[in-house]
Amino acid sequence: MKRREFIINSAIAIGGTALLSGCGEKKLIKSENQVAKRKYRDIEVPLLALGCMRLPMRNDEIDQQELDRMVDYCMEHGANYFDTAYMYVDSKSELAIGKSLKRYKREDFILADKSPIYKMKTREDVREIFDEQLKKCQVEYFDFYMCHNINKNTVDTYRNVAMYDELVKLKKEGKIKYLGFSFHGTPDILREVVKEHKWDFAQLQINYLDWDVVKAKEQYDIVQAEGIPVIVMEPLRGGGLVNLSDKALAKLKEHYPDTTPASFGLRWAASRKNVVTVLSGMSNLQQVKENIQTFIDYKEMTEDEIKVADEISKIIQSQGEINCTACKYCMEVCPRGINIPAAFALYNQYKVSKSKMSFTMYYDTLSEAEQPDACIKCGLCSKNCPQNLDIPALLTKIADEYKKIKAS
Ligand code: SF4
Ligand code: SF4
Repeated sequence: MKRREFIINSAIAIGGTALLSGCGEKKLIKSENQVAKRKYRDIEVPLLALGCMRLPMRNDEIDQQELDRMVDYCMEHGANYFDTAYMYVDSKSELAIGKSLKRYKREDFILADKSPIYKMKTREDVREIFDEQLKKCQVEYFDFYMCHNINKNTVDTYRNVAMYDELVKLKKEGKIKYLGFSFHGTPDILREVVKEHKWDFAQLQINYLDWDVVKAKEQYDIVQAEGIPVIVMEPLRGGGLVNLSDKALAKLKEHYPDTTPASFGLRWAASRKNVVTVLSGMSNLQQVKENIQTFIDYKEMTEDEIKVADEISKIIQSQGEINCTACKYCMEVCPRGINIPAAFALYNQYKVSKSKMSFTMYYDTLSEAEQPDACIKCGLCSKNCPQNLDIPALLTKIADEYKKIKAS
């Protein structure tokens, strides 16, 4: 048995008795209050899906009990779409969501997973890793499956290993229902990719801030022109559109005092035409409950609401925030182990709060190795950044700001 196989088998076996005894036997009690659904091909898809990139954590491990509670609440309210990926949560997300969903009948949930292009050397790897993912998730097939994160650095590999052709074979074998791709590249590459193959869907980063900032509208229009349905990821920009600045929040409340930033952002994304579902990376049951309520009461956005979203976007952009979604792709390649998203988050917070004390205090909670100052400017991180951020330059800016405050 290969080492990787051994690790997976061991991980699945942990708590195995409870797991096996509950296998597909959890009775699904449906609430009267169900989330809005959309028809996609031959299935009904909930308009809200649970993204499994930021799962609940306890003592540096996924909090399986809290995840089970979240999954149960989703299932009861018809939000039965779950999206994971090979590398999410240090490659533990598939195991955790697989374990949680195993309690239900397979036909009761929709599971999406993604092929990690960065790990592929040969066409054989595509199938080998796919089989590993089925095993980790404890399923026989994936409903939605994607070439993960096509961008300027991965597009050649995805072509060279004939990933699409191999995945089409798996689709013909009944192991994939719908085949698509998730995208973090430039519009030029997207134009090529959409024409290369017959895709069932495309997963794009769409929210009211990125619409202009990272050309999400242009990408959406390219996909629309080919008639490819869209799955939305990062509708709240990794939480950035939940924690609005005072000025941005005041603008929202001035017009819609009863709404929350999360509800507003999710509805904005779901209101785009041809959207199949909106993924939201939720980290606790409270977030799940709030987001589900938005989609139980779901109403498409009005023109007036969309205008207010544009105004909020302009306020956010004018406040000089760094457009980081906390995806952590940069950290996979950083030879120094710098905590890049944490540095950007604390800088963004500082720009909103203007609190120098808070900025330096949180900066100091990063270990020396994780601090922006440890950057050697090799540039590897920027090549992996879906937001095309000039990370070394931004880290220098943050480190300089810190030094200036300390010296004052
Ligand atoms: S440029 Fe700095 S932050 Fe980026 S990978 Fe290199 S050392 Fe890490
Ligand atoms: S800097 Fe870029 S790659 Fe790193 S976490 Fe932020 S968005 Fe992701």
